[in-house]
Amino acid sequence: MRLVVVGNGMAGSRLVSEVRARDPHVAVTVLGAETCRPYNRVLLSNVLAGTTRPDQVRLVDPSWYAAHRVEAVFGSAVTCLDRDARMVVTEDGRRVPYDVLVLATGSEAVVPPIPGVERAIPFRTLDDCERILAAAGRSRRAVVVGGGLLGIEAARGLAGRGLPVTLLHLAGHLMERQLDVEAGQVLGETLAGLGVDIRTGVTAREVRADGVALADGELVEGDLVILACGVRPLTGLAADAGLEVRRGVVVDDEMRTDDPSIFAIGECAEHDGTVYGLVAPAWEQATVAADVITGGKALYRGSRLVTRLKAKSVELAAMGETQLTEEHAEVVRFSHRARGTYRKLVIRDGRLVGAILLGESDAVGTLTQLFDRGGTLPGDRAGLLFPGLSSAAHVADSPTLMPDAARVCQCNNVTKGQIRACWEAGARDVAGIAAATRATTGCGTCRDAVEGIVGWLCEQEGVSA
Ligand SMILES: Cc1cc2nc3c(=O)[nH]c(=O)nc-3n(C[C@H](O)[C@H](O)[C@H](O)COP(=O)(O)OP(=O)(O)OC[C@H]3O[C@@H](n4cnc5c(N)ncnc54)[C@H](O)[C@@H]3O)c2cc1C
Repeated sequence: MRLVVVGNGMAGSRLVSEVRARDPHVAVTVLGAETCRPYNRVLLSNVLAGTTRPDQVRLVDPSWYAAHRVEAVFGSAVTCLDRDARMVVTEDGRRVPYDVLVLATGSEAVVPPIPGVERAIPFRTLDDCERILAAAGRSRRAVVVGGGLLGIEAARGLAGRGLPVTLLHLAGHLMERQLDVEAGQVLGETLAGLGVDIRTGVTAREVRADGVALADGELVEGDLVILACGVRPLTGLAADAGLEVRRGVVVDDEMRTDDPSIFAIGECAEHDGTVYGLVAPAWEQATVAADVITGGKALYRGSRLVTRLKAKSVELAAMGETQLTEEHAEVVRFSHRARGTYRKLVIRDGRLVGAILLGESDAVGTLTQLFDRGGTLPGDRAGLLFPGLSSAAHVADSPTLMPDAARVCQCNNVTKGQIRACWEAGARDVAGIAAATRATTGCGTCRDAVEGIVGWLCEQEGVSA
């Protein structure tokens, strides 16, 4: 079987390694438009903030491809998919036949069609990140356009490097897809305290050499302009080839398109009406597709998303339906704006269907697990918001009492039970656990939790020895 993968990003590279782990014989070719080896895109925010070096974000060792007999072609975008001939054609004239094809083309940054926008730098790729860093070194002031997750992480990262930053956002509050109005405002106040000047409800009309002109004519000064205006799935190849495309390339539970020999995974795929924009579903889809391609029966049933902001001194986790009001759900809320704290639970039929946790992170582990498992909540709501108040709510956060089924690494879907099994097989630190399970290798926010479990297991060993 000849497997061809279009796109060597986070989903494509994961698929290739999962296929090879399951089947040593299938001939694999992966074609990537980017000129470099795959990297962890999620960590680009940390690169911008200076907490991670560009060489630390690579996902695949250069020797891996030869050692695993995978043909990898870099800097070679596929321009045409010929379904009759079962072949893809690249921009440099390569014609690559396939028996099975996987589309993993991800998304592109949305670039608003305003005058002067070519002066601005989008924030999507490692190249973009390196361009931003080079420009930041010679800039006096930055303007970030877009107040979603990426825009906030970019603005916080640059402010942390000492560059004055203004963040412009079209909607009335930050991260309006994940947060309610008050949470968005508290987040804005926290960021303002960290040196980011926040302007919501404004429209950028033109990018000029000296800044961004707003719709009302005001000039927001800045000699570096970064675009974080959202992403658009790259579906052109599939659409041109006549595959069903809505917002993304439409796939079934096996991640197959309406052509049974073609799969789509990651941010270019649309499953059950949803196009996901986080890495956990992309990796889960890659694993399902790899299993199906190599003869397995795995199915993808959709993902429950937890969004965590990676911005220094700002703790934020948001999950599920955060915007439901009292008319449709039970809403429990605590707000202490002076301390930058906002916590909200949205409960329906006794189950947690949404939560916002801004400020301190002591409840994140507990609530993520309750959200993940969808089980019935304990009656003590205050104890859920403030784990310190209730021994029951502490259960999920404690490495000792947390159930084995609890998902610790959201990005790689690793449970406490898997970490324990890995520890029992000899791993004694986070690096060992990461090597065996991949826990901590996505966004990295579960590192403390994994460390806690390993520490507790080591302690237990000491006690019983
Ligand atoms: C700065 C930043 C921070 C983020 N932070 C988080 C986070 O904290 N948590 C989280 O879960 N997610 C985060 N994300 C989102 C996450 O990175 C994506 O969900 C993930 O990368 C999707 O994987 P993918 O493989 O579908 O797409 P990509 O990783 O974009 O890979 C697609 C690849 O396909 C290539 N390609 C496209 N067209 C072609 C073609 N025609 N021929 C060949 N190759 C092609 C592209 O060049 C690219 O290399 C972040 C993203 C960014 C940019």
